[in-house]
Amino acid sequence: MTASAALSLTGVTLEYPDGEGTLKALDNVSLHVPAGRILSLTGPSGSGKSSLLAVAATLIRPTSGSVVVSGTDTALLDDAGRTTLRRDKVGLIFQQPNLLPSLTAAEQLIITDRLRGVHASASAARALELLDLVGLASAADKRPHQLSGGQRQRVNIARALMGSPALMLVDEPTAALDHERSESIVKLLVQLTREFGFGTVMVTHDTDFVPLTDAVAVMRDGCLKDDLLTNFGRVGAAL
Ligand code: ADP
Ligand code: MG
Repeated sequence: MTASAALSLTGVTLEYPDGEGTLKALDNVSLHVPAGRILSLTGPSGSGKSSLLAVAATLIRPTSGSVVVSGTDTALLDDAGRTTLRRDKVGLIFQQPNLLPSLTAAEQLIITDRLRGVHASASAARALELLDLVGLASAADKRPHQLSGGQRQRVNIARALMGSPALMLVDEPTAALDHERSESIVKLLVQLTREFGFGTVMVTHDTDFVPLTDAVAVMRDGCLKDDLLTNFGRVGAAL
Protein backbone atom coordinates (compact mmCIF):
# COMPACT_ATOMS: atom_id res chain seq x y z
CA MET A 1 0.00 0.00 0.00
CA THR A 2 1.17 3.53 -0.70
CA ALA A 3 -0.14 6.84 0.55
CA SER A 4 -1.86 7.32 -2.78
CA ALA A 5 -4.16 4.29 -2.37
CA ALA A 6 -7.81 5.34 -2.43
CA LEU A 7 -8.84 2.01 -0.91
CA SER A 8 -6.96 -0.79 0.80
CA LEU A 9 -8.77 -3.87 1.99
CA THR A 10 -6.54 -6.40 3.74
CA GLY A 11 -7.78 -9.81 4.83
CA VAL A 12 -11.40 -8.64 5.02
CA THR A 13 -13.97 -11.21 6.12
CA LEU A 14 -17.67 -10.43 6.50
CA GLU A 15 -20.05 -12.93 8.05
CA TYR A 16 -23.82 -12.66 8.17
CA PRO A 17 -25.89 -14.72 10.59
CA ASP A 18 -27.50 -17.54 8.60
CA GLY A 19 -29.86 -19.81 10.50
CA GLU A 20 -27.83 -21.72 13.04
CA GLY A 21 -24.54 -20.78 11.42
CA THR A 22 -23.00 -17.94 9.46
CA LEU A 23 -22.64 -17.08 5.80
CA LYS A 24 -19.28 -15.72 4.66
CA ALA A 25 -20.17 -12.92 2.22
CA LEU A 26 -16.47 -11.92 2.09
CA ASP A 27 -13.72 -14.42 2.75
CA ASN A 28 -10.26 -12.97 3.44
CA VAL A 29 -10.44 -10.36 0.67
CA SER A 30 -7.47 -8.11 -0.06
CA LEU A 31 -7.74 -5.37 -2.66
CA HIS A 32 -5.84 -2.14 -3.27
CA VAL A 33 -7.10 0.59 -5.56
CA PRO A 34 -4.71 3.43 -6.33
CA ALA A 35 -5.86 7.01 -6.74
CA GLY A 36 -6.69 7.81 -10.35
CA ARG A 37 -7.39 4.18 -11.29
CA ILE A 38 -10.63 2.35 -11.99
CA LEU A 39 -11.14 -1.32 -11.15
CA SER A 40 -13.97 -3.46 -12.52
CA LEU A 41 -15.40 -5.98 -10.07
CA THR A 42 -17.32 -8.84 -11.66
CA GLY A 43 -18.60 -12.23 -10.58
CA PRO A 44 -21.86 -14.13 -10.32
CA SER A 45 -24.87 -12.86 -8.44
CA GLY A 46 -24.50 -13.49 -4.70
CA SER A 47 -20.69 -13.69 -4.86
CA GLY A 48 -20.23 -10.71 -2.51
CA LYS A 49 -19.68 -7.73 -4.81
CA SER A 50 -22.20 -5.43 -3.12
CA SER A 51 -20.97 -6.58 0.28
CA LEU A 52 -17.45 -5.53 -0.70
CA LEU A 53 -18.72 -2.06 -1.67
CA ALA A 54 -20.73 -1.75 1.57
CA VAL A 55 -17.62 -2.57 3.62
CA ALA A 56 -15.46 -0.17 1.57
CA ALA A 57 -18.11 2.53 2.05
CA THR A 58 -17.97 1.92 5.84
CA LEU A 59 -21.71 1.13 5.76
CA ILE A 60 -20.94 -2.30 7.26
CA ARG A 61 -18.11 -3.17 9.62
CA PRO A 62 -16.25 -6.32 8.55
CA THR A 63 -16.07 -9.26 10.95
CA SER A 64 -12.28 -9.07 10.63
CA GLY A 65 -9.64 -7.44 8.48
CA SER A 66 -8.56 -3.91 7.70
CA VAL A 67 -10.35 -1.24 5.65
CA VAL A 68 -8.30 1.87 4.88
CA VAL A 69 -10.01 4.64 2.92
CA SER A 70 -7.75 7.36 1.56
CA GLY A 71 -5.19 6.77 4.31
CA THR A 72 -7.72 6.53 7.17
CA ASP A 73 -7.94 3.23 9.06
CA THR A 74 -11.71 2.91 9.49
CA ALA A 75 -11.31 0.56 12.48
CA LEU A 76 -10.20 3.59 14.50
CA LEU A 77 -13.41 5.52 13.81
CA ASP A 78 -16.66 5.51 15.79
CA ASP A 79 -20.02 5.75 14.01
CA ALA A 80 -19.87 9.54 13.79
CA GLY A 81 -16.34 9.37 12.38
CA ARG A 82 -17.43 6.87 9.77
CA THR A 83 -20.34 9.08 8.75
CA THR A 84 -17.97 12.01 8.36
CA LEU A 85 -15.49 9.93 6.36
CA ARG A 86 -18.29 8.76 4.07
CA ARG A 87 -19.55 12.29 3.58
CA ASP A 88 -16.14 13.80 2.88
CA LYS A 89 -14.26 11.00 1.12
CA VAL A 90 -16.66 8.54 -0.49
CA GLY A 91 -18.90 8.87 -3.55
CA LEU A 92 -21.62 6.25 -4.02
CA ILE A 93 -23.37 5.49 -7.31
CA PHE A 94 -26.01 2.77 -7.49
CA GLN A 95 -27.93 1.25 -10.38
CA GLN A 96 -31.02 3.31 -9.57
CA PRO A 97 -30.18 7.00 -9.45
CA ASN A 98 -32.68 7.68 -6.62
CA LEU A 99 -33.22 11.28 -7.65
CA LEU A 100 -35.81 13.35 -5.82
CA PRO A 101 -38.78 13.73 -8.21
CA SER A 102 -39.54 17.36 -7.36
CA LEU A 103 -36.00 18.72 -7.76
CA THR A 104 -34.25 19.91 -10.92
CA ALA A 105 -30.94 18.32 -11.92
CA ALA A 106 -29.01 21.28 -10.47
CA GLU A 107 -31.00 21.13 -7.21
CA GLN A 108 -30.22 17.38 -6.82
CA LEU A 109 -26.56 18.40 -6.60
CA ILE A 110 -26.97 21.55 -4.52
CA ILE A 111 -28.97 19.75 -1.84
CA THR A 112 -26.01 17.46 -1.12
CA ASP A 113 -24.01 20.53 -0.08
CA ARG A 114 -26.92 21.64 2.14
CA LEU A 115 -26.93 18.20 3.76
CA ARG A 116 -23.21 18.65 4.40
CA GLY A 117 -23.96 21.96 6.09
CA VAL A 118 -22.45 23.95 3.24
CA HIS A 119 -24.62 26.96 2.42
CA ALA A 120 -22.33 28.55 -0.10
CA SER A 121 -23.45 30.43 -3.15
CA ALA A 122 -20.57 28.54 -4.78
CA SER A 123 -22.72 25.37 -4.61
CA ALA A 124 -24.88 26.44 -7.54
CA ALA A 125 -21.87 27.31 -9.68
CA ARG A 126 -20.20 24.00 -8.86
CA ALA A 127 -23.40 22.08 -9.62
CA LEU A 128 -23.61 23.67 -13.08
CA GLU A 129 -19.92 23.01 -13.72
CA LEU A 130 -20.32 19.32 -12.84
CA LEU A 131 -23.49 18.93 -14.91
CA ASP A 132 -21.59 20.44 -17.83
CA LEU A 133 -18.77 17.96 -17.25
CA VAL A 134 -21.14 14.98 -17.49
CA GLY A 135 -22.72 16.38 -20.67
CA LEU A 136 -25.88 17.81 -19.12
CA ALA A 137 -25.29 21.56 -19.34
CA SER A 138 -28.64 22.09 -21.03
CA ALA A 139 -30.57 19.88 -18.61
CA ALA A 140 -29.80 21.71 -15.35
CA ASP A 141 -33.42 22.88 -14.94
CA LYS A 142 -35.03 19.56 -15.88
CA ARG A 143 -36.71 17.29 -13.35
CA PRO A 144 -36.08 13.51 -13.35
CA HIS A 145 -39.23 12.67 -15.38
CA GLN A 146 -38.00 14.97 -18.16
CA LEU A 147 -34.69 13.07 -18.44
CA SER A 148 -33.78 9.76 -20.10
CA GLY A 149 -32.42 6.84 -18.05
CA GLY A 150 -28.90 7.63 -19.22
CA GLN A 151 -29.29 11.31 -18.33
CA ARG A 152 -30.60 10.42 -14.87
CA GLN A 153 -27.54 8.23 -14.29
CA ARG A 154 -25.34 11.19 -15.35
CA VAL A 155 -27.06 13.41 -12.77
CA ASN A 156 -26.41 10.68 -10.21
CA ILE A 157 -22.71 10.65 -11.17
CA ALA A 158 -22.45 14.46 -11.05
CA ARG A 159 -24.11 14.40 -7.61
CA ALA A 160 -21.52 11.92 -6.34
CA LEU A 161 -18.78 14.34 -7.45
CA MET A 162 -20.14 17.26 -5.38
CA GLY A 163 -18.31 16.15 -2.22
CA SER A 164 -14.94 15.78 -4.02
CA PRO A 165 -14.54 12.11 -3.01
CA ALA A 166 -11.22 10.25 -2.84
CA LEU A 167 -12.98 6.95 -3.43
CA MET A 168 -15.87 6.30 -5.83
CA LEU A 169 -17.92 3.12 -5.34
CA VAL A 170 -20.23 2.22 -8.19
CA ASP A 171 -22.69 -0.70 -8.14
CA GLU A 172 -24.01 -1.90 -11.51
CA PRO A 173 -24.35 1.60 -13.00
CA THR A 174 -25.39 0.34 -16.43
CA ALA A 175 -27.74 -2.51 -15.50
CA ALA A 176 -30.80 -0.52 -16.57
CA LEU A 177 -29.27 0.97 -19.74
CA ASP A 178 -28.85 -0.18 -23.35
CA HIS A 179 -25.42 -1.06 -24.76
CA GLU A 180 -24.58 2.32 -26.26
CA ARG A 181 -25.60 4.29 -23.17
CA SER A 182 -23.80 1.81 -20.94
CA GLU A 183 -20.58 2.28 -22.87
CA SER A 184 -20.78 6.06 -22.59
CA ILE A 185 -21.42 5.84 -18.82
CA VAL A 186 -18.36 3.59 -18.31
CA LYS A 187 -16.24 5.91 -20.48
CA LEU A 188 -17.44 8.85 -18.40
CA LEU A 189 -16.47 7.06 -15.16
CA VAL A 190 -13.00 6.32 -16.58
CA GLN A 191 -12.58 9.96 -17.66
CA LEU A 192 -13.72 11.35 -14.29
CA THR A 193 -11.43 8.92 -12.40
CA ARG A 194 -8.47 10.29 -14.37
CA GLU A 195 -9.52 13.92 -14.20
CA PHE A 196 -10.38 14.09 -10.48
CA GLY A 197 -7.80 11.51 -9.38
CA PHE A 198 -10.09 9.44 -7.14
CA GLY A 199 -9.95 5.66 -7.06
CA THR A 200 -12.99 3.84 -8.43
CA VAL A 201 -14.43 0.37 -7.89
CA MET A 202 -17.13 -0.39 -10.43
CA VAL A 203 -19.23 -3.51 -9.98
CA THR A 204 -20.49 -4.66 -13.36
CA HIS A 205 -22.06 -7.62 -15.09
CA ASP A 206 -21.22 -6.05 -18.42
CA THR A 207 -17.86 -7.60 -19.16
CA ASP A 208 -17.91 -5.89 -22.59
CA PHE A 209 -16.72 -2.66 -21.00
CA VAL A 210 -14.20 -4.13 -18.59
CA PRO A 211 -11.28 -3.53 -21.04
CA LEU A 212 -11.98 0.21 -20.81
CA THR A 213 -10.97 0.10 -17.14
CA ASP A 214 -7.53 -0.39 -15.58
CA ALA A 215 -8.05 -3.85 -14.13
CA VAL A 216 -10.64 -6.45 -13.35
CA ALA A 217 -11.15 -8.49 -10.22
CA VAL A 218 -13.43 -11.52 -10.25
CA MET A 219 -15.33 -12.59 -7.16
CA ARG A 220 -16.55 -16.10 -6.39
CA ASP A 221 -18.22 -17.20 -3.17
CA GLY A 222 -16.84 -14.22 -1.27
CA CYS A 223 -13.27 -14.82 -2.44
CA LEU A 224 -11.17 -12.59 -4.61
CA LYS A 225 -8.54 -15.02 -5.75
CA ASP A 226 -5.23 -13.48 -6.67
CA ASP A 227 -5.05 -15.58 -9.82
CA LEU A 228 -8.42 -14.16 -10.88
CA LEU A 229 -7.11 -10.62 -10.75
CA THR A 230 -6.19 -10.10 -14.36
CA ASN A 231 -4.59 -7.12 -15.72
CA PHE A 232 -4.41 -4.34 -17.83
CA GLY A 233 -1.84 -3.19 -15.13
CA ARG A 234 -2.29 -5.50 -12.19
CA VAL A 235 -3.99 -3.61 -9.39
CA GLY A 236 -2.35 -4.45 -6.11
CA ALA A 237 0.99 -5.60 -7.50
CA ALA A 238 1.56 -2.10 -8.83
CA LEU A 239 1.41 -0.66 -5.32
P1 ADP B 1 -23.59 -9.69 -5.13
O1 ADP B 1 -23.62 -8.20 -5.01
O2 ADP B 1 -22.34 -10.23 -5.75
O3 ADP B 1 -24.80 -10.22 -5.83
P2 ADP B 1 -24.02 -9.69 -2.24
O4 ADP B 1 -22.85 -9.00 -1.65
O5 ADP B 1 -25.28 -8.91 -2.36
O6 ADP B 1 -23.61 -10.32 -3.66
O7 ADP B 1 -24.33 -10.98 -1.38
C1 ADP B 1 -23.32 -11.93 -1.00
C2 ADP B 1 -23.94 -12.98 -0.10
O8 ADP B 1 -24.33 -12.40 1.15
C3 ADP B 1 -25.20 -13.61 -0.69
O9 ADP B 1 -25.23 -14.96 -0.32
C4 ADP B 1 -26.31 -12.84 -0.01
O10 ADP B 1 -27.48 -13.62 0.08
C5 ADP B 1 -25.71 -12.57 1.37
N1 ADP B 1 -26.22 -11.31 1.98
C6 ADP B 1 -26.13 -10.06 1.43
N2 ADP B 1 -26.64 -9.14 2.27
C7 ADP B 1 -27.06 -9.82 3.39
C8 ADP B 1 -27.67 -9.42 4.62
N3 ADP B 1 -27.94 -8.14 4.91
N4 ADP B 1 -27.97 -10.40 5.51
C9 ADP B 1 -27.68 -11.70 5.26
N5 ADP B 1 -27.09 -12.14 4.12
C10 ADP B 1 -26.78 -11.21 3.19
MG1 MG C 1 -24.96 -6.79 -5.85
